[in-house]
Order: sequence, then C-alpha cells, then structure tokens
Amino acid sequence: MAARKFTGRELVLATHNAGKVREIQDLLAPYALQVTAAGELGLPEPDETGTTFAANAKLKALASATGAKLPALADDSGLVVDALGGDPGIYSARWAGPKKDFAFAMQQVEDALTAKGAVDCRAHFSAALALAWPDGHVELFEGRVDGTVVWPPRGARGFGYDPMFVPHGYTQTFGELDPAYKHSISHRADAFRKLVAACFAR
Ligand code: IMP
Repeated sequence: MAARKFTGRELVLATHNAGKVREIQDLLAPYALQVTAAGELGLPEPDETGTTFAANAKLKALASATGAKLPALADDSGLVVDALGGDPGIYSARWAGPKKDFAFAMQQVEDALTAKGAVDCRAHFSAALALAWPDGHVELFEGRVDGTVVWPPRGARGFGYDPMFVPHGYTQTFGELDPAYKHSISHRADAFRKLVAACFAR
C-alpha cells in the first residue's frame, strides 16, 4: 500500500534530545515547515517499552501526535556493537545512566569489549523514524551507517556515542567530522531519505 503523504506545514519533533533535534531540523530545513520540539509544547516523554527501534519510534511519535493534535516525527536510534551481541542497541540512552553521561556510556562499551577480549570492533548506528498522525496512522522507515568503534573517544562535535564511532571509508570519528557532513551520511539521514521519498515527494 502506498505511504500516506505529509501535506501539512506543521510538524512536531517527538524528541527531547537536543542533538537529535539539531540533526532533524537540519534534515528538514529544505521543506520550509514549522517545526516544534515536543519539549517546547510541554509534551511528556513516554516510557520506551518497545523491544525494537521501530516499536519505540512508533510509540513516541503516536504520543506526540495525539498530545499535540498534529503530525509528529520521532526517532529511536542507538549504537549496535557486533561483539556485544547488539548492545547497547535500544538501551543506548540508558547506558549513559540518569545523568546522561556519554563519557561513562562509552567507557561501558569499552569495558564490555575488553572483558570479552573482543578484537572485532564492527558496529553500526541504527535509526527508526516514525511519522504519526493524530488519527493513529504511522509510517516507519529505518536507516543505518556501518563502521567501527575506536578507543579512546575523539572529537567534541556531535553527541552521544559520536566520539567513538568511525564510519566505514573514513578515518575521523563522528565527533570529529563536520556536523553538516555527518548529517548527510548518518543512520538518521538514511532513514530520512526513505521518509522523504515515501511521504514528502508529491
Ligand atoms: P533514544 O533513541 O532516545 O532511545 O536514544 C538513543 C541514544 O543513542 C542517544 O541518546 C544517543 O546516545 C545514541 N545515538 C543515537 N543516534 C546517535 C548519533 O547519531 N550519534 C551518537 N549517538 C547516537
């Protein structure tokens, strides 16, 4: 079945993460939309009770769309490390603890790899984007970017696990690369291209 087209001018970003808000606003810039973050509307963050990126993106988008009575776009994403059986994965934000300390989260990844004696550093970032309407309709798109995790972390640009991730074909981490460049090759950009092709193209 064909995807539902997004024909409005207003869109709520169902995320409270400043790094994601910046990246998604960059991606949406060419579409001249009025974009408001869920936090600015006082919308609460729902518990992420899903067991997949897609399920969590869907529940966040639906919570904002029904709360704001406007279409809402949510991202659920994370770092998937092969040698850790996919961890931290959907628990990427939780590995940073209540203080959202990503230096600590990256140290946890390094400690887990060391404890396993892992030599395989392959990893990818995954993103699920869900576009939900107030009537409960949802369109879902997934993207990824493959690379390796490195230690120690490098670079102060980006957010989250960016300083320990080197995308394939590059020597710099996402923490060192120009953000505009990261935003063009990221897992979120990959999912976003699919969303635009399905829902924004007239
Ligand atoms: P959630 O999608 O809100 O559950 O959080 C996902 C977590 O994954 C974020 O808090 C980041 O730590 C991490 N993450 C997702 N995308 C990126 C990225 O592009 N760079 C670095 N870390 C990311």
